[in-house]
Amino acid sequence: MTIHGEYDNENIFAKILRGEMPCVKVFEDEIALSFMDVFPQSEGHTLVVPKSVTARNFLDLPSEKVGVYMERVHTLAQAVEKALNPDGIIITQFNGALAGQTVFHLHFHIIPCYEGQSVGRHGKTGMADVEHLGKLANQISATLV
Ligand code: 5GP
Repeated sequence: MTIHGEYDNENIFAKILRGEMPCVKVFEDEIALSFMDVFPQSEGHTLVVPKSVTARNFLDLPSEKVGVYMERVHTLAQAVEKALNPDGIIITQFNGALAGQTVFHLHFHIIPCYEGQSVGRHGKTGMADVEHLGKLANQISATLV
């Protein structure tokens, strides 16, 4: 097992970025695409994926691309807070399978936390209702305009 390796163009997020697989979109510009995690750890679990990079993880991302990408992560985290009013937000990211990474195109997780509700375990949650995800995505994206 290693943190580094060859970027696989057929990973699911690469397919989503190319429009070959669907996603419930929250935001898109030339830097990043954000969409709802389809196996959410909590209500509103949102992913932010950099575009035009072949970075398997954060360590692979060229340093000149870190700033603009992290601005998108920050903007989306603020949008999740505004839209869903959680009591806490986990912002996380895994590097390498040993660390728990399962999709090998860089992404940050924005996971809202709510008083009295436990956050699901990473990789151990069920699939969400896509219509419901669509409503959450609309709520989040509405705060961005
Ligand atoms: P990782 O384990 O790589 O940090 O996170 C990958 C995330 O992608 C997981 O939270 C998982 O639920 C999510 N995921 C896996 N496949 C899909 C998919 O096809 N669509 C969406 N929207 N999320 C996915």
